Amino acid sequence: MTSERAKRFPLELADLKRESRKPQGHAGESRKPATVRTEPSRAVARGHDARVERHPAKTADKSSAPNVALNGTLALTSERVRERMVERLRANGVTDPRVLNAMSVVPRHMFVDPGLATQAYEDAALPIGHHQTISKPSVVARMIELAAAGRKLERVLEIGTGCGYQAAVLSQVARDVYSIERIRPLYERAKTNLRPLRVPNIRLHYGDGRVGLPSVAPFDAIVIAAAGLDVPQALLEQLAVGGRLVAPVGAQSGQAQVLTLVERLGPSQWRESRLDRVFFVPLKSGVI
Ligand code: SAH
Repeated sequence: MTSERAKRFPLELADLKRESRKPQGHAGESRKPATVRTEPSRAVARGHDARVERHPAKTADKSSAPNVALNGTLALTSERVRERMVERLRANGVTDPRVLNAMSVVPRHMFVDPGLATQAYEDAALPIGHHQTISKPSVVARMIELAAAGRKLERVLEIGTGCGYQAAVLSQVARDVYSIERIRPLYERAKTNLRPLRVPNIRLHYGDGRVGLPSVAPFDAIVIAAAGLDVPQALLEQLAVGGRLVAPVGAQSGQAQVLTLVERLGPSQWRESRLDRVFFVPLKSGVI
């Protein structure tokens, strides 16, 4: 992994809050104004542009209904929509306030195709191309909560960046997030998705996550977002003593995968707990 490939993006919460800001006077959308920053949020521009492209007829009808398209976009991207998602997560047992906060500020709709954006805050995995998916919000929250276990996280490794959503959520919970993707177009896409959010503490790597990042290890937590038949030994070795690894483990085709927690108890002692039944795309070797 070359250092040129490691990328950094500054994401600021103020930007995310501003992204969800709505103009005054829209029924059902009134909220207290968020901090206004002098630098324009590209998140707003991108979400709006995507919607406009898909609904040219609506935007053309500006004289009679100037905000039709805008209203739709804002409802879609609003903090309120995310808050409802977070309420569901809470109701389903997610309790770590840092995780809930992270889920409430990261704009998941910006990590899926515009055509799927209306489904972005449903608890569903969605296609991101190359036969891969963005994980369900409930699974993202569960994995991060398990990995953190209430601890302050310094260095975290994610295997399987995909579109970059989980990395963005992790970036709100950990000091430094490293994420590896083996499919180059997805690695590029994650970079593109994260750039407007300006996340300062994510480093994306293109490579085979099964070998981890030995030069950066040890990690306080490792989250694997794809299912292997076992947890790669290299990743177990790169976990700090006292660290926690969360991974789906199991066969791909019709067989049960189990969300597995591995705690490193000592230099050569790990404890494995098998938790929820899950379904993930496969953890594969090599890069494409
Ligand atoms: N973290 C994502 C989920 C991505 S889906 C989210 O935010 O929702 C799982 C990803 O793991 C896919 O993009 C797939 O290409 C990737 N993957 C599978 N095997 C891998 C490996 N050995 N190294 C790195 N990435 C891998």
